[in-house]
Amino acid sequence: MTTETIASGRIVFCDFDGTITARESLELVFKTFAPGRWEPVRDKLMAGQLTVREGVRQIMETIPSARYSEICEFVAAIPIRRGLEAFLDFLDERNIPFVVISGGFRGMVEARLGTLTERLHRIFAADLDTSGPLLKVVSDYESDAELVAKAEVMALFPQVQKIAIGDGITDLNMAAHADMVFARDMLARFLDQSGIAYQPWTDFFDLRDRLNTLISYPSANI
Ligand SMILES: [Mg+2]
Repeated sequence: MTTETIASGRIVFCDFDGTITARESLELVFKTFAPGRWEPVRDKLMAGQLTVREGVRQIMETIPSARYSEICEFVAAIPIRRGLEAFLDFLDERNIPFVVISGGFRGMVEARLGTLTERLHRIFAADLDTSGPLLKVVSDYESDAELVAKAEVMALFPQVQKIAIGDGITDLNMAAHADMVFARDMLARFLDQSGIAYQPWTDFFDLRDRLNTLISYPSANI
């Protein structure tokens, strides 16, 4: 895979599920479109008997392709955190690219973000092949355990200050490879345990204000 140079010297990597969306959209899709299948997979994930990559595949590949457009409509109705557009304006003014890295699916990210999708620099996510009777999961960036290996995606952008935004345990690797981390919920608790420094955040207005301060006063201890 080819690497990319970023002129502004900074780039933002943002998780989708639970970070841009206020709720776990993939989990809601599982519960709604593959009822009864999420709970046993979740238990195996928690017990370390299954990888995220295997678990997501096991559930998604039971859903008929005919329901794909219904899934996209469902995801499009899930609320997103306040201020995303204002945050994108802030980044645009500074030529800082905004990259979504999702362990979920590109079609769902695009369905939810609608016209805001055009303002993203890139989306790295898995895809769904709808050509067969059941959905088929396809990912260009999978690793042994992850459906989308976030740290490998970040490595495509060398020699740039990497800013990571996330909420969950699947963002831990992303945070470990970033120069600046914004974390909430489970990710913040895991980073506390791991001793990795981060900024807490609530919504994208808050992120904009915190990042503005950090960029404007890099030595400030806030
Ligand atoms: Mg998340």
